[in-house]
Amino acid sequence: MTQNDHAGATGFVNDTTLLLDLDGVSVVRVERLADGGRRVHLVTADERARACPACGVFATRAKGSAVTRPRDLPYGESGLEFRWHKRRWWCREAGCPRRSFTEQIPQIPAGARLTARLRGAAGRRIRDAGSTVIQAARDLHLSWPTVMEAFRTQARDVTEAPLPQVAVLGVDETRRGRPSWERDADTGKWRLTRDRWHTGFVDALGHGGLLGQVEGRTVADVLDWRRGIGYVAIDMSATYRAAIRIGLPHATVVVDHFHVVQLANKMLSMVRRRTTAETRGRRGRASDPEWKARRRLLRNREDLTDDQFATMRNTLPGEGKMGQTLLTAWIAKENLRTLLALARTGADRHQVGNARWKFLTWCADSDIPEVRQLAATVDRWWPEVAAFIDTGHSNAKSEGINRVIKLVARNAFGFRNAENQRLRTRCVTTRRARGHVRTAQL
Ligand SMILES: [Zn+2]
Repeated sequence: MTQNDHAGATGFVNDTTLLLDLDGVSVVRVERLADGGRRVHLVTADERARACPACGVFATRAKGSAVTRPRDLPYGESGLEFRWHKRRWWCREAGCPRRSFTEQIPQIPAGARLTARLRGAAGRRIRDAGSTVIQAARDLHLSWPTVMEAFRTQARDVTEAPLPQVAVLGVDETRRGRPSWERDADTGKWRLTRDRWHTGFVDALGHGGLLGQVEGRTVADVLDWRRGIGYVAIDMSATYRAAIRIGLPHATVVVDHFHVVQLANKMLSMVRRRTTAETRGRRGRASDPEWKARRRLLRNREDLTDDQFATMRNTLPGEGKMGQTLLTAWIAKENLRTLLALARTGADRHQVGNARWKFLTWCADSDIPEVRQLAATVDRWWPEVAAFIDTGHSNAKSEGINRVIKLVARNAFGFRNAENQRLRTRCVTTRRARGHVRTAQL
């Protein structure tokens, strides 16, 4: 058989054609090259390739032939080289502006240098496998722009898909790259010149992953994610709270308890540093009892053994006023934790009110400015804290997604283009929702 016998034929199937499994072409022969590679000679096996791209009429008069070298998926260790022997046709339809054309098939459109399935695989490596663009380009022997373009095409499935129903929205910020500072030549003062952020919106209850990101973190940046959202879980950010009150006036803002406890721990460290400086006239040293206790101070009561707790309770007051101050501050933190621990216990209004009162009066009576400051902050955020105790909703998913966002940025060695970064982030954080993180099941 010669190649010409197959040009334009349909349904021509041999084992090699079946093995290659590329729609629209048949394998005529395969040759071994001197460098160990293989060259595959293809002919068209799709009648529609004869249709004129301008008028759609099937051509009948051949004009000649042409050979192209489309690239395909790697196959085996040495890969394959294609030679597609295709026909040129005359279009003899009256009034058609196109006089002649060469064959094309959906897998290899006119002018395409890659098969559609190679392009698709390249894009899906980024979209679903969390690969970097550069790594996919290396693996598939493609250029960076080609892979990026393929990814953008594949990512449309993610960005154009309808958003899932969201009952609890998580809002969080992620720093984009490092902040940069510049010294003012006149005043000698350092000035922040670049500090870029993304604000992310997360399905905090379901498995929708990252719903979207916007650049920046001001009120105007925060989108109006409206219908169906009953609660919004955030860190203790006054900006986000203000934005949500404007954008989602019907939603209840829930403050993440983790950040409330973090605030109490910060307070403890501040008290320890200040009292050490006041009492000892210097910074803390490893030999100071309060320095030794610094980690225990940040631990929770239930994470301390009875011995550790007894040591702390007994040695700190021995340090006079400083020890008393630290113990008072620690108890304030524990009272706050006790209050937060009422979340999802079915505690009634009375029990919550009691725990709140205990925390606030302890702080007020303490006479320690940092402790009183903590009480004032918690009181200012009381509706949001109460909403947490009521519902137990947290922003933990935002934190988890933030980790993935940073991992993607690190793998890519940073992103110059913020839009590319958001697209990559959106795809990699919605893989679970799209069913792409499962391994084969036995
Ligand atoms: Zn035509």
